[in-house]
Amino acid sequence: MSGVGFVEPAAEPHPAVLAGGAALLRPLLEAALAALEDGVARRGGPVPSGEPGELAELVRATLGEALPATGTGAVAALEQLTRLLAYGSADPADPACAAHLHCPPLAVAVAAEMAAAALNPSLDSWDQAPAATALEDEVVRGLAGLVGFDPDRAAGVVTCGGTESNLMGLLLARDAAVRRETGLDPALEGLPVVACRLRVYASEAAHFSVQRNAALLGLGETAVVPVPVDARHRMDPAALERALDTGGGVSMAIVATAGTTDFGSVDPLPEIADLARRHGAWLHVDAAYGGGALFSSRLAGLLDGIAAADSVALDLHKLGWQPVAAGVFLAREAAAMAPLARRVAYLNPADDEAAGYVSLLGRSLRTTRRADVFKIAVTLRALGREGLGRLVDACHDLARHAADRIAAHPRLELAAEPVLTTVVFRYLPTTGDPDRVNAALRRRLLRAGRAVVGRTELGGAEPGGRVRLKLTLLNPHATRADVDALLAAVVAAGVEEDR
Ligand SMILES: *Cc1c(COP(=O)(O)O)cnc(C)c1O
Repeated sequence: MSGVGFVEPAAEPHPAVLAGGAALLRPLLEAALAALEDGVARRGGPVPSGEPGELAELVRATLGEALPATGTGAVAALEQLTRLLAYGSADPADPACAAHLHCPPLAVAVAAEMAAAALNPSLDSWDQAPAATALEDEVVRGLAGLVGFDPDRAAGVVTCGGTESNLMGLLLARDAAVRRETGLDPALEGLPVVACRLRVYASEAAHFSVQRNAALLGLGETAVVPVPVDARHRMDPAALERALDTGGGVSMAIVATAGTTDFGSVDPLPEIADLARRHGAWLHVDAAYGGGALFSSRLAGLLDGIAAADSVALDLHKLGWQPVAAGVFLAREAAAMAPLARRVAYLNPADDEAAGYVSLLGRSLRTTRRADVFKIAVTLRALGREGLGRLVDACHDLARHAADRIAAHPRLELAAEPVLTTVVFRYLPTTGDPDRVNAALRRRLLRAGRAVVGRTELGGAEPGGRVRLKLTLLNPHATRADVDALLAAVVAAGVEEDR
């Protein structure tokens, strides 16, 4: 078939394996970048307007068969689908896209991602990633220093995100508790009966991955004891102490959250660390969101006490402006990661390691693993702590501005003062049911392609309704006027729905 606009397969070089040369990539990148701009311009807002079904239909129509018998050629495929993806994206670079911990990536990090993709290192063995292996070691050392660990004693690994990092923390905690209680190695022998009695303590506002990871680890979701929070959504240490004293079983781990997903609340880390020590529990700090505050001299103090953690989760694809994925798991003591070590004949033979060819296989749950560390390394070097801190502060300023505007508006109600960069609030209808109106106004904004606003629900009994809206402000280039326009759009949509 030689349809108009299609590049004949024969007109292009044979399936483009990169082979180290940029020459093949350059025209493709030019084509992709042009299509990207075109797709974004056609969208003209933070998200394509219309119903989800319309977009799915456009995808089907553009794609035709996902696996055609004969290809269209590289340039045509890249242009068409890049234009489609750009048009059909919820674009975190648009100031009206503010629903999730989904950041606009730094251009320098995207370019670094491209370089790493071209070289395709894989971090499961030294001979697939000589420099990337050393680079990951250095970046982990630097980030260990950022959280206050001794970089000479700590260890860590780049993960796909907070979910994986939280899994690693609980895995190490579980294995440490089982060895302590029984002398058995759960990695070899499976879970002994005592595992039924392992308890994990996390606040009611902790991330859902804590429960899901407890299930994956064979402990069951009910092994996680929810600890009540105070009025500012932080774990109540007195309630934690009561739970530890009366929870029965074996206190395996306490998961403290430094930056809850909705409110950005930081649990009282020093008090929790003290309780963890007294009860012999592993302390994992989920700083997936709040860890970025450590870059900011204004906000870093919120995380005082984090250095007492046994392990920490950080996500640089949140307050770190990396393209997904850029998670980091850190352990205060490298020895604690020993349960992850594996010897594989074709990856890390002992004599290779003795000769200095040391791999990172034994730090990760994965085998083949992207060099996500590369974009992180480039970003840390390009911006420095101060540059990243300025981006954090800019987003924090926007959140405070949004909170002031919400507090001053007669039809808006602020749920709490912002801690980091999220603002939880709702529209107050004059007649309609508040939960229905807030849920509907959010979908109205999506349908119009006007704004992507977050939605959450308050826990506990909320007689006036539980549904809240959320702005997750991660775009440091957004302005106060952008925030004002976003709030005005929320109010206008609320008026439309309040009939
Ligand atoms: C985002 C988040 C997670 C999950 O991280 P992923 O990178 O999405 O896997 C865990 N905990 C908190 C507090 C988060 O905000």
